Amino acid sequence: MLALKAVGFDIDGTLYPNSKMYLRSFGFVVRNLGLMRRFRRVRRSIRSVRPIEDFYRVQAELLGVEMAISTADAERIINERIYTEWEQVINHVPLYDGVVETVEAFRSAGLKVGVTSDFPVNRKLGMLGLDGCWDCAFSSEELGYLKPNPEPFLELARRFDCRPDEILYVGNSYKYDVVGAVSAGMHAAHLARSPVKNSRAILTFSRYSTLRTWVLENAVLKTR
Ligand SMILES: [Mg+2]
Repeated sequence: MLALKAVGFDIDGTLYPNSKMYLRSFGFVVRNLGLMRRFRRVRRSIRSVRPIEDFYRVQAELLGVEMAISTADAERIINERIYTEWEQVINHVPLYDGVVETVEAFRSAGLKVGVTSDFPVNRKLGMLGLDGCWDCAFSSEELGYLKPNPEPFLELARRFDCRPDEILYVGNSYKYDVVGAVSAGMHAAHLARSPVKNSRAILTFSRYSTLRTWVLENAVLKTR
């Protein structure tokens, strides 16, 4: 039996299917192929920069080097194309079946619920129609460290005001969500068709009804 007090969720690919987002972002990606390839490289390498004083500055510097442009120009491109234009592609992307019911069921069972993502969260939650239902919502960028670094997970525990081992973290990325959460002392549920070999996730699920039943049946709710 687990003694959960809170459930944290990743957003992209976890609350909605990435396939729907890829479909919608096709035009944007085609128009910005070079930028997206370089930006992905920047995001991969920035995950291992420690310590990092100003995340947004370092991100712009790295992209500037990749594109052979100034840091200021890179920062403008990131703000206009990634944080604004690209973000729009998830406007009204349909959620996975059962997401809303699951979050509501957890809340009524006395669990706290929150989201943390590697991209800005507030406008995105609004576009998904999911604002206002969380005890906390923040982006790991604000902390300067993307997943699987421990900071976003420890911040989640701080905001939930509970220990990491009282939290279940739900995500679709084994490398970033499951490994990150488990390394920070949390339990992890992996949204995937089938379990990774020797998975460190306590549950692998492909339907939210499975996650909902499992949590409500297997978690001892100390909040009651
Ligand atoms: Mg994800």
